[in-house]
Amino acid sequence: MESQVFTALSVETLPDRLGGNAVLKAKIGADSSHWNVREVGDGNLNLVFIVTGDQGAAIVKQALPYVRLVGESWPLPLKRSFFEYHALTRQAARDPGMVPEIYVFDEAQALIVMEYLTPHVILRRALIDGRALPRIGRDLGLFAARTLFRGSDLSMATREKKADLALFADNVELCDITENLVFSDPYFEAALNRHTTPQLDPIVAELRADRDLKVEAQRLKHLFSAKAETLCHGDLHTGSVMVTDDETRVIDPEFAFYGPISFDVGMLIANFWMSYFSQAGHETAPGARDGMRAYLLDTIETLWETFRAEFAHLWRTERKGILYQASLFEDRGDPLAAEQALAIVIDEIWREMLGFAGIEIHRRILGLAHNADFETIADPDRRAPCETRALKLGRHLAVNRQRIHSLRDIRETVERLE
Ligand code: ADP
Ligand code: MG
Ligand code: MG
Ligand code: MG
Repeated sequence: MESQVFTALSVETLPDRLGGNAVLKAKIGADSSHWNVREVGDGNLNLVFIVTGDQGAAIVKQALPYVRLVGESWPLPLKRSFFEYHALTRQAARDPGMVPEIYVFDEAQALIVMEYLTPHVILRRALIDGRALPRIGRDLGLFAARTLFRGSDLSMATREKKADLALFADNVELCDITENLVFSDPYFEAALNRHTTPQLDPIVAELRADRDLKVEAQRLKHLFSAKAETLCHGDLHTGSVMVTDDETRVIDPEFAFYGPISFDVGMLIANFWMSYFSQAGHETAPGARDGMRAYLLDTIETLWETFRAEFAHLWRTERKGILYQASLFEDRGDPLAAEQALAIVIDEIWREMLGFAGIEIHRRILGLAHNADFETIADPDRRAPCETRALKLGRHLAVNRQRIHSLRDIRETVERLE
């Protein structure tokens, strides 16, 4: 790019600024005077443009030196774009075809030029509209298992793993956001919090006085900050997934960090439970979204079962890292030892995953960053009961996670709350 000094792009300046880039020109058309640029960013942090030329289109995503949602008063380093780029390259290798192809990365300008996913839509949006996407449970279960297994000590050589651990350890500011906004702020009167008021005031007071819940949230925060098992996406909710009926893609891994295998899985599944509870706020008549409700609970089961089966498959076929070596188990004629260890590892992921899911639900209703599933229910008297049920499930998951044994048990709890 032309200059090393960071300058934010705009719809007006983008064709001049990127018009000399050979890779982009080859992708979308060489005559930048014909480029059409639209800003489509709907996220909280960054600029996202669709650039269309004579031959095609691409996405240009640029970080800003502050949080877009809040403004310049909340600075945030440009290097998140560097982590997004490096996470995307690793995810592309670990589960090919599941993330957008990268065309250009410019570190100084904190920008990534990537494949324009079309006619894909954001999964969260599709679920709000009542669309049942047939593939997502399976595709996302595979994505989670493959990226999380292959980024861990179960798969990587010690030198390679420690180099990545060091690389991503510098994504400090984005981890700090999660540490505060997810694990702490929801549980006290933090300045940036908001909730549907006055309807939720009593349950919010109850949750903030809940000693067991607060202790559990901090235990989970400890796992988040200290259990550097694998390269997590870090922001894997339904707003970071783009879909058609036959394709699933994952975007936006700028929060990538080394953390627990369970973290991405828990955050993702939490967003399906929230979608479930939000359906009552979107249906045109009571019961009109019953099919959607059943689909969402089935999708959660498919996602978890697929994750578990693929993780087990990789355990049996790709366990080439530093842990649970075949030289101790299978090669000594004791494959059952490897199976015993696998069962323990999966059980630990399960119990952590439930906790992260519970906390994710709370922070989306009590914290700064709410989600559209509930926010698009305009009438607060209709939104509040949906949010209340979700909050209760979140508390149940976080506090009782050591005693919950199956998604069937949770299905009963969910249906009873509804
Ligand atoms: P942020 O980090 O600010 O949340 P995202 O990467 O989530 O930014 O992108 C914001 C929005 O831009 C997405 O919700 C989606 O609508 C659109 N978008 C981002 N990447 C792509 C892509 N590769 N193809 C099509 N649309 C995209
Ligand atoms: Mg995003
Ligand atoms: Mg978004
Ligand atoms: Mg983002």
